[in-house]
Amino acid sequence: MNQSNRESLKIPLLRDRHTHPFLYASWIDGINVHDVSSKQEVLDRIKEREIDDGEILIVHGWLDSKFQLSPDDLKSFGPTAVFNLSLHGLVMNDQAQAMIESQLTDLECRWSDQEWFECNLRRILNAFAMLNGNADRLRRYFDSLHREHGVIYAEEMLLADEKEIDVFREANLLDRTRFWCSLEMWQTLSPDSRKLIQGMKIFADGALGVRTAAVKASFDTGDNGMLMYSDSELRDLFAECIATQKAVAIHAIGDRAIDQVVQLVWQQRRNLGFENEVRIEHAQLISLDAARRAKEAGVILSMQPNFSDDSIQYSDRLPECYVVGNNPFRMLIDEVGFIPGENLIFGSDGMPHGVTEAIRQSLTPPFPQQQSLTVEEFVAGYCDASVYASDETIEFELD
Ligand SMILES: [Zn+2]
Repeated sequence: MNQSNRESLKIPLLRDRHTHPFLYASWIDGINVHDVSSKQEVLDRIKEREIDDGEILIVHGWLDSKFQLSPDDLKSFGPTAVFNLSLHGLVMNDQAQAMIESQLTDLECRWSDQEWFECNLRRILNAFAMLNGNADRLRRYFDSLHREHGVIYAEEMLLADEKEIDVFREANLLDRTRFWCSLEMWQTLSPDSRKLIQGMKIFADGALGVRTAAVKASFDTGDNGMLMYSDSELRDLFAECIATQKAVAIHAIGDRAIDQVVQLVWQQRRNLGFENEVRIEHAQLISLDAARRAKEAGVILSMQPNFSDDSIQYSDRLPECYVVGNNPFRMLIDEVGFIPGENLIFGSDGMPHGVTEAIRQSLTPPFPQQQSLTVEEFVAGYCDASVYASDETIEFELD
């Protein structure tokens, strides 16, 4: 590449508004196979790795559009679990399964049932996080976010357990996160822990990677994904969350789920007249109409620039309208008037975390229809000093 084409860019450190630091920290000594495209290479990497007693080797970042894996492939190894990139899919061997089931004693586990998996995803991920998570790993993880990935702050969207707060305290990292938890978990927390909770997390649908995001136009299989709740169930759950006086963050990826959530929040704003902050997490396939109504209802969109590449990674399963309509930042900003840093904020969901992919996919998304963010918009949405103060900057070369 001609050096004169390269431009150097200096921006503040990132404040990641949606990720799962405790879960990823608990996996820090696992294997990331995001860049691996053959099954044999994954198996070779697992073979080389020693596993500590009482732990499960976590392999993550697997893209099932590149190759398939089965529990049989993992039979000869110690306890091993392979998560797909979206975290909404998992393959593990018998030893890992026995260990994780011993943490989920009140669940009747049906691992091959995707609907069961989606419904219990939160509890399953929490069980994995609690098994391997500790203050040392958490400190090393935040250190690598800071030093290697340009991220100074990482919001915890899925508190695994009340004990997780103690681990953050022990690691001296309470100021570099905010905790979100399920209503179920909230009800078990002590008053002191409740003070540290930013808000409630609700899942309205699944994910693109496993075709469970609730969509209007079908996936390649003819499926339309799944809504986690009926309208009335979601309304009741939302009302209970609002009653905690905390913020509410609702995961919705597909247009069908986003419509359901936006309609509910819009109605409830009028009926209940609450002031709580409400966020939609991901909002990848949001339509123009839903975006207008979301803005009217005072919804903050918490989006992941690094999900723009889903248009490539999942082009095998998505209809054309979603391939080009995924992460429609220009529509949101130019046509609807969302403002980065105010009602449009950015995070990574850890898939992957860090400035490199975030900036690359923001400035040069895979399809021209997606249109790019400007550097100023990126910084406003991703580097908000009011959530964590730091003057430190990162400098890097742009292609
Ligand atoms: Zn998430």
